[in-house]
Amino acid sequence: MQTELADFIRNTPEGREAEAILRKCVHCGFCTATCPTYQVLGDDLDSPRGRIYLMKRAFEGGPVTDRTRLHLDRCLTCRACETTCPSGVRYGRLVDIGRAVVEAKTQRSPLERAYRALLAFVMPRPWLFGALLRLGRLSRPLLPAALKSKVPADIRSAGEWPAPRHRRKMLALAGCVQGALAPSINAAAARVLDGAGISLIEAPAAGCCGGIRFHLNYQDAGRDDMRALIDAWWPAVESGEVEAIVMTASGCGVTVKEYGHLLAQDPAYREKAARISSMTRDLCEVITPDMLSASAERGTVAFQSPCTLQHGQQLRGRVEALLAKAGYALTPVNDAHLCCGSAGTYSLLQPALSGELRSRKLAALEAGAPQAIATANIGCLAHLAGGTATPVRHWIELIDVT
Ligand code: SF4
Ligand code: SF4
Repeated sequence: MQTELADFIRNTPEGREAEAILRKCVHCGFCTATCPTYQVLGDDLDSPRGRIYLMKRAFEGGPVTDRTRLHLDRCLTCRACETTCPSGVRYGRLVDIGRAVVEAKTQRSPLERAYRALLAFVMPRPWLFGALLRLGRLSRPLLPAALKSKVPADIRSAGEWPAPRHRRKMLALAGCVQGALAPSINAAAARVLDGAGISLIEAPAAGCCGGIRFHLNYQDAGRDDMRALIDAWWPAVESGEVEAIVMTASGCGVTVKEYGHLLAQDPAYREKAARISSMTRDLCEVITPDMLSASAERGTVAFQSPCTLQHGQQLRGRVEALLAKAGYALTPVNDAHLCCGSAGTYSLLQPALSGELRSRKLAALEAGAPQAIATANIGCLAHLAGGTATPVRHWIELIDVT
């Protein structure tokens, strides 16, 4: 696609990157077939192709309106379109650039700005999120149904975290919300890895990966979170104490794997960021089937592969293989490539679309009447659990009990 970028962006790193991405798009529209928002809304401007057109127009200095921003806001950043695109268009990176441009050229209502600012303040602060979650659980019976479904009735205890006794060590990230919502996930990962001769440790000062604020379009603040996390991890990385960084939330993993790119313009951090990204692995890249002993039948499970795992990190089939080795029978899931509607803060900002996508996803997951639903990302876990009585677990918790 030919582009003629406007002066405000032409000679910037973002402009050059956007232009290179836009030039790859041949406007064929194959991507519309796998776009969840296009499937629900049927409007080409709510498809990847339509959004690419809107962003191109914005980069070329054309009109940018609240409608432009709405169509970009409705995008889940699920990146199913990237997996489908035959021309290799990096839509996820393009929409990051496009959102920043459109945000700067439009004005949200005061209420919307306040809501987004509140989310950007609360979500990346584990202590604050944890305190509000405790409060929400105490007052759960009094909450309206919509809010109640977002507050878990039970939080499973973490159980024992094995002492770091092995020579091989890896870093784990507690994350901003996972530690409060499901402390059992990282503890389960630590126990399974301990059995495989690897000690999992957490850096005490580590906070949010930056994904929350970055994708709320507070991109500078998101990069600050990334730098802070690099600082927290760096002593263990630089000293060689850890051989890898293990992500138990695929949403955080896809962000940390992109640090090298997102901080490439920062001379003080670009090398560290690139090293951190190169050391980062999703948990399903670290645990291999040969680490697990074959188990007797454990029941039936439907696996929801988060977009950040299958599209963002292009990791497919690995968790399913691990669950099968651990003795679970996987039930079939139609349209497994489609987003569940969680998408970070999307479920809070676009509740109607998110709710529709969750209903469709749960219908697909429960079609085979599984005893449990497994996932690989805390956001998807909390979102799906709020809409079903079927237990929803991180896959490592199911492996840990075998
Ligand atoms: S993003 Fe890819 S699939 Fe979609 S219209 Fe452009 S070239 Fe075609
Ligand atoms: S990222 Fe997902 S929601 Fe956004 S345009 Fe691509 S397929 Fe559609």
